Amino acid sequence: MPSVTIDSAALRANWRTLAKRNPAARTGTAVKADGYGLGAAGVSTSLHEAGCRDFFVAWAEEGAAVRKALEAAGQGDARIYVLQGLEPGTVPMHLAEGLIPVLSTPDDIAVWREGLSVAQAEAPAALQLETGMNRLGLAEEDAEAGAELVRERELDLCLVMSHLASADEPSNQSARQLARFRELSALFPGVPRSLANSAGCFLGPDYTFDLTRPGIALYGGSAGPASEGLIRPVATLSAAVLQIRTAKAGEAAGYGAAARLTRNTRIATVGLGYADGYPRAASGAGVPLREGRPGAEAFVAGHRVPVLGRVSMDLTLLDVTDVPEDAVVPGTRAEFFGPNIAIDDVAKAAGTIAYELLTGLGPRVLRLSAEEAAIS
Ligand SMILES: *Cc1c(COP(=O)(O)O)cnc(C)c1O
Repeated sequence: MPSVTIDSAALRANWRTLAKRNPAARTGTAVKADGYGLGAAGVSTSLHEAGCRDFFVAWAEEGAAVRKALEAAGQGDARIYVLQGLEPGTVPMHLAEGLIPVLSTPDDIAVWREGLSVAQAEAPAALQLETGMNRLGLAEEDAEAGAELVRERELDLCLVMSHLASADEPSNQSARQLARFRELSALFPGVPRSLANSAGCFLGPDYTFDLTRPGIALYGGSAGPASEGLIRPVATLSAAVLQIRTAKAGEAAGYGAAARLTRNTRIATVGLGYADGYPRAASGAGVPLREGRPGAEAFVAGHRVPVLGRVSMDLTLLDVTDVPEDAVVPGTRAEFFGPNIAIDDVAKAAGTIAYELLTGLGPRVLRLSAEEAAIS
């Protein structure tokens, strides 16, 4: 079976690297989308051990699952924020699970406040401010009315936040958003502030405020050039060689006969495909899915080898001609990303980003801890 091995020591080390880098801010973490595909329960309990107390999910249901995992591990003191605004009907779930909604509209504020009155409860909420991404959050023109509403309804705001559109690339966008965030968050004096995602954690102390919210860097993805060399790989995607054959120059391999062999080629057929989330767009060179780009590579028996032909649903071909013959046998595992093949390189070859590779890992990919992987 294909598997993804999660090195939780590296995960915790990445969290500590970011925490040390920004000592004036609390370091939280994004564990939405099942902990970026790696299993929200394991990732959250592991990061709590490292010292993390602030967890961000997209949906209340995800928050409830994270709460359950943390409680089961005796980690009852976590703050869990729900990023997508207040979904209708979910106030009771927020209250029952102790989730902090990130309110995004004047309606959200009103609905939350009314929900609290009904439950006769006091519970903290966070507020998202829109600063230039045009995605979620209170619009600039609503910010003052929002602040008024918060005061009037005596809302317990525990955080105001915004999100950076392009912290990972040089542009003036981040500086503009920073200025707008400063201006709008001043309408909420005394409330802790949060702006930085992973890449924002590398933009310097102006960006980190009271709480950061890294995701991808903790999971081993790049957070822009400044993060290079500081982030350890966390996830290793691997699968076993099922069969090895030698094909002659002039023959073809894989669907569409897309790979034309220019030499006698030893081909390893590996049990991993696009149904597992290994993208078809990572197919080998010469496969006309995207003109002019090199294909992805894998790592087998100490060698980097090219993917050959089209990635199919359950299988991928590797050209192992240059690997010593007895080094690759059926059962040998090939790494598709991990310590030897940077996940960002695979993403680049496939025309996507590491986030999509991680969150796209299919349900039949076994999630293993490093310890489990060592015995299997
Ligand atoms: C996903 C997300 C994050 C984490 O972003 P990374 O780029 O993975 O560090 C932080 N804040 C918000 C609002 C998000 O949606």
